[in-house]
Amino acid sequence: MRENNTDRHHRGGRRRFRHDHDAPRVIIPAQPCVVCTQPISEMASAVAFGPDQGPAHFDCVLMELTKREPLVSPEKIAYLGSGLFGVIVEKENSRFEIHRKIVVEDPINPPAWRKELRGLYKR
Ligand SMILES: [Zn+2]
Repeated sequence: MRENNTDRHHRGGRRRFRHDHDAPRVIIPAQPCVVCTQPISEMASAVAFGPDQGPAHFDCVLMELTKREPLVSPEKIAYLGSGLFGVIVEKENSRFEIHRKIVVEDPINPPAWRKELRGLYKR
């Protein structure tokens, strides 16, 4: 008679924890810019632009607004924050006067790609 070689030890009972959430390596796929169609490598700095609120390079948005806005010297376009650009005139002591505000990003309905990013960076 042969020995019944049943292995009664519980093997593999320990869970192997994956450390994904400890050190998230977020790789954001580059999306094409709606202005120049080149991929945006820095999605975190992309601006939601146009009727579709697609991602665009910050510089491209600045360029588009400069073309679109009838600027009177010394007016220039600047980013005011929170998806808001403005036509400004620089004053002394690094102050500036806002002549017009240009809402570029819809603050109430952020596009899907932006929500995705926010989720990633909230961790
Ligand atoms: Zn671009």
